[in-house]
Amino acid sequence: MTTNNGGLPRKSDVAVVGGGTAGLALATKLKRLGVGSVIVLERENDAGGIPRHCGHYPFGIREYGRLLKGPDYARRNVEAAVDAGVDIKTEVTVTALHPDGRLSLTTPAGKAELQAERVVLCTGAREASRPQRFIGGDRPLGVLSTGALQSMTYLQGMRPFRRPVIIGSELVSFSAIDTCRHLGIRPVAMIEENDRILARRLVQPYLMMRGVALFTKVKNLRILGRRQVEAIEFIDAAGKQQSIEADGAIISGRFRPEAALLHLSHLEVDPGSGGPMIDQFGQCSDPSYYSAGNLLRPAETSGWCWQEGIETAKWIAEDLSRGQPAVVPSVRVQLVDRAIGFSVPQRLSISDRTGGMQKMQIGLNVPVKGYLEAISGGQSISNTWLNSRPVRRVQIRLAPIVQNCSKSPVELSIQRNK
Ligand SMILES: Cc1cc2nc3c(=O)[nH]c(=O)nc-3n(C[C@H](O)[C@H](O)[C@H](O)COP(=O)(O)OP(=O)(O)OC[C@H]3O[C@@H](n4cnc5c(N)ncnc54)[C@H](O)[C@@H]3O)c2cc1C
Repeated sequence: MTTNNGGLPRKSDVAVVGGGTAGLALATKLKRLGVGSVIVLERENDAGGIPRHCGHYPFGIREYGRLLKGPDYARRNVEAAVDAGVDIKTEVTVTALHPDGRLSLTTPAGKAELQAERVVLCTGAREASRPQRFIGGDRPLGVLSTGALQSMTYLQGMRPFRRPVIIGSELVSFSAIDTCRHLGIRPVAMIEENDRILARRLVQPYLMMRGVALFTKVKNLRILGRRQVEAIEFIDAAGKQQSIEADGAIISGRFRPEAALLHLSHLEVDPGSGGPMIDQFGQCSDPSYYSAGNLLRPAETSGWCWQEGIETAKWIAEDLSRGQPAVVPSVRVQLVDRAIGFSVPQRLSISDRTGGMQKMQIGLNVPVKGYLEAISGGQSISNTWLNSRPVRRVQIRLAPIVQNCSKSPVELSIQRNK
């Protein structure tokens, strides 16, 4: 550790790991609620998170009542935090999380440590990489995630290719088209393994408008090329081998929480969401730690993460006013149907603490039409009609579950034949 601790304070009331949308909103709110010292630790040169390189609309309507592009929105979030008195430290990477709020950091001046009363993890989500998606073929240049493309395009003004294929069909895959247009890049096709696009169907005509061919239900996807990408090969829905000439591939979507720190830590990780195991207040298995934003689950919009930061800040401020973080009894949420991929929160604290999340977020593995039922101690405590698909926002009311769960776990299942 450097003697001056890398220019950082050694102690803070709250340390926020990640200066993206959620972290900045949360830190700003904490200061406005009167919390003493709030520090945001951001590994990049600038705070602001993903919106910094989303050079497109629409950001900021809920937050600022204005339609903003991503970089302007990120700047406003930073300005709001600075104005509120948040101490933002950039080029600081948190490298380890220790029990009771102790952090190991690297700074341009060397290693450092910070002890916080509460730590909030807001490290966001990233798209799945090519190996994580098992895409075969050669290893040429020109294969990028949407995030990498956006940062090259908007932050560095680079044009990595001219005629790429977009692999994936989530909303972010459509925003990849806009990013391409920014530098005159013309995507030639969008390729999806599922039988329809994963974004809502109403955005599909945009492909035709932009001259992007759509292939769904594809199999055996391969990227070919010696130096640069030359072609994308796959078997189409009719079982025919296809080869599309292209000089790049944008591998988009299939978000995953940025959870490297978590996996190396003492905190419990939820294999379903890929994020930390939290209760209805956003509190992790070590009560000194909280989390908010897209680290909790893949992946929500900026507006959502901003609001989540604000709400979580209120619970943290209230918790700080009680003094030392306390371990309280909790019940687990168990997923007893494979159609359900995750729930957030994953456990429910049983205490005199009021407030907390109003809704439980549910991630689906497959399309579902049926009742989502919560059972605790043999009693049905909540029943919600669902007609939804994977990668969609699904929420159920949390209050009846919290109020009626006994000391036994809450089991979530789908009743398809009611
Ligand atoms: C490619 C891509 C495109 C997207 N496009 C849109 C869009 O167009 N509209 C929209 O509403 N949402 C979009 N999203 C969703 C986006 O994640 C949210 O908009 C929002 O930025 C999430 O906020 P967050 O604070 O959870 O995470 P982020 O904004 O990702 O912020 C996380 C921050 O944590 C920092 N960090 C991570 N690890 C460490 C560490 N160990 N130490 C210090 N700092 C660390 C990161 O550098 C980053 O700044 C997109 C996401 C991605 C990945």
